[in-house]
Amino acid sequence: MFRRIRRRAMEPTEAQREFAELHAQLQGQLPPGVGEPAPEPEPTPPTAVVDDFLPPELRVPSHDQVEGKMMPWSQPLVLDGEMVVCVECGAYRAWLILATRGEIWLRCRAGHHQRETRIDTAWYNRHSGPADATHATFEDCLRHLGR
Ligand SMILES: [Zn+2]
Repeated sequence: MFRRIRRRAMEPTEAQREFAELHAQLQGQLPPGVGEPAPEPEPTPPTAVVDDFLPPELRVPSHDQVEGKMMPWSQPLVLDGEMVVCVECGAYRAWLILATRGEIWLRCRAGHHQRETRIDTAWYNRHSGPADATHATFEDCLRHLGR
């Protein structure tokens, strides 16, 4: 009598077996990721190439973190014989030149941004010295450069 009770207690019940079978079936059917929390949305522009098959900790830092470089450019910037002027306020000097995601952006003293397609990352690298500091955010970097 004792042995029989003990054996029954250790065996899975019919309901447990059914559940285990169902569970195994469902595991093969559900696409990966279902039931897990959705990943954090990346603050990237829609045109950017997103490495969305990597877990968040392996993703490249966002634009606001480290993926950009910037340098001050105090003199007028002349490209193709033409002086670059801020389209919003007409500033022509005291630029910050930003290199990010293969694009070059200019930021005037007043904080306007405009994309500059006449120069590229290679141009930036030729004209910039080695980075003297790394900043967690774009704003930190601006502060470092006295903006
Ligand atoms: Zn401006």
